[in-house]
Amino acid sequence: MAGIEIDGITKNFGRTEVLRRVDLDIRPGEFMTLVGPSGCGKSTLLRIVAGLEMQSSGSVRIADTAVDGLRPRDRDLAMVFQSYALYPHLTVAENIAVPLRMRQLKGHQRWPLVGRLMPGTGSLESAIAAEVQSVAAMLDIGHLLERKPGQLSGGQRQRVALGRAMVRHPKAFLMDEPLSNLDAKLRVHMRAEIAQLHRRLGTTFIYVTHDQAEAMTMSDRIAVMMDGAVLQVAAPETVYNDPKDIRVAEFIGSPK
Ligand code: ADP
Ligand code: MG
Repeated sequence: MAGIEIDGITKNFGRTEVLRRVDLDIRPGEFMTLVGPSGCGKSTLLRIVAGLEMQSSGSVRIADTAVDGLRPRDRDLAMVFQSYALYPHLTVAENIAVPLRMRQLKGHQRWPLVGRLMPGTGSLESAIAAEVQSVAAMLDIGHLLERKPGQLSGGQRQRVALGRAMVRHPKAFLMDEPLSNLDAKLRVHMRAEIAQLHRRLGTTFIYVTHDQAEAMTMSDRIAVMMDGAVLQVAAPETVYNDPKDIRVAEFIGSPK
């Protein structure tokens, strides 16, 4: 389990400052949600943690190590977006296995499956199949492994995307509005599933949403963002009952 420390992060796009000295300490194994209105800088902050965007100043530490110079794939994080980006021509099983195949092709030294394979206990192929099946069972898509993404519902596709993130055994999951393409009923159902997944895996999650109800129901703590700054970081009940300022109260819908 890895803690993530965000230390004095600023980000400018041209002359616009979209993040203003953001500090945020995410505890190992914590479900932290970044919540705030559209355009407040949530995705930019998440992308900086992932290494997909470079900050203008400040630093990010993962498991007590500064990662600012590291490429995304060397940060050992898994990112899940709202657009699932599954390969349409591959089966569900093959889609989930993609990160494992990439590591296999690159002869990745830190590939977790290699470490788990005992001499003479089976091939890499059977290890991949076992890993895919174990993840699919956890996500309740074990019966869909031979289908193509085009034959799946939106919720099933989102589970495949989660499975593909899980086989990497990342230090943390970064999720950017992963449910926003789903209809309202399924969204509520998937909230519970993601919260349950977090409890089972025990891995650190950073979850981004503009939906305060989503943030309130899933998170250990929430960071309320507005206009490039974090206004309050606390447990959902605390933010609701004791908002730090009027903008937080209005956004969360605290009683007057
Ligand atoms: P959120 O995810 O909270 O909706 P974003 O992090 O996507 O917010 O965006 C924060 C601000 O930064 C917005 O004003 C957005 O227009 C701006 N922004 C994001 N990405 C870029 C970019 N690549 N170039 C210029 N401005 C950007
Ligand atoms: Mg966003």
